[in-house]
Amino acid sequence: MNAIKWLIANSVALIVIYAICVSVVPDMLDREHNVTITPPPYKVSKQAQDLYNSLDFIADLHCDALLWSRDLTKRNELGHVDFPRMQEANMALQAFTIVTKSPSGQNFSKNSGDGFDNITMLNFFQARPISNWFSLYERAVYQSRKLHGFAKDYNDDFVAVASKGDFKTLLNRRKTNKKVVGGFLGIEGAHCLEGEINNLDKLYDEGVRMLGPTHFFDNELGGSAHGISKEGLTDFGSQVIDRMNQLGIIIDLAHTSPQMIDDILAQTQSPVIVSHTGVKGTNDSPRNLSDEHVLKIAATGGLIGVAYFKGAVKAPLTKGIVDAMKYIKSIAGVQCIALGSDYDGSMTAPFDVTGLPVLVEEMIHQGFTKNEIEAIMGGNVKKFMLANLR
Ligand SMILES: [Zn+2]
Repeated sequence: MNAIKWLIANSVALIVIYAICVSVVPDMLDREHNVTITPPPYKVSKQAQDLYNSLDFIADLHCDALLWSRDLTKRNELGHVDFPRMQEANMALQAFTIVTKSPSGQNFSKNSGDGFDNITMLNFFQARPISNWFSLYERAVYQSRKLHGFAKDYNDDFVAVASKGDFKTLLNRRKTNKKVVGGFLGIEGAHCLEGEINNLDKLYDEGVRMLGPTHFFDNELGGSAHGISKEGLTDFGSQVIDRMNQLGIIIDLAHTSPQMIDDILAQTQSPVIVSHTGVKGTNDSPRNLSDEHVLKIAATGGLIGVAYFKGAVKAPLTKGIVDAMKYIKSIAGVQCIALGSDYDGSMTAPFDVTGLPVLVEEMIHQGFTKNEIEAIMGGNVKKFMLANLR
């Protein structure tokens, strides 16, 4: 009898401790990992603000907001992006990218996928379904549905884009109502396929339209830029690339090894994106693209999203972002340049999404023309989506 009492008392204590952790830890981790150097509100020159206000289509190719516990339909004081802040920033389209595994001690040069996974711990404290704790595939499904749930809660003011038709709906609605914002789903690292090509089709059915073959470690598809092997595409990886081309899932080369980039460019029939990156030309890091790859990616009709964090670009960050854009422009032209913030990707940003006028001010300062700014801030993404969504 005493043993039963002891067991009950301990179980109750554990449940209470878990409940306390669940109510405190997710916000704590969010606050600790997603930092904004200068919080809102932002003040820029009249010239920069007027130019910003005139922008018709602002888009960003990468943010990991779905990883956290925030309700994206509410304005948050935490993190970098949510729907109300997108509206305030006059954003038209945001890629919501799904992270399913992140090895502890993550760094830019060498990671193994075998170590302790931070996302398992995060999902545990977020009280996400138990299926999420153990299956990378289920994590991807869960986050996909989360975006669709938020979209539904936001009624007609958020368009989840999974086809050219959806994209045209977004453009049409925005003609009369700039409060309408849109988003599409991407994934960082195809380890969430768990080695099964059928899971790619299933994730396509969940609305995923962009996929990066690798994230921080090597997987069944091949080498990561930050992995151990630095190898190219495996047979399975090559199969996945073919299937992505068939389905119309955009290939995202962020985080892939240089050999992977070469192998994928030799195989793909569709233009590719690098959703969040820097360039070696302004910051020589294994995280960043070589000149040769910038040129080859641009030549596919692809896009290079410039990320906002130190490591992709140099500090001070606002200047560093525009320096990278200027460098890409100098070797490949502006038509391939896009925003790829990496907002909410466990990163320190110079400003949250409502601070984009600050970026425009720096672009003016560094000599970008109005047309070039329009193209980089979203015009190029709009063209790409119209040409490549089905
Ligand atoms: Zn990333």
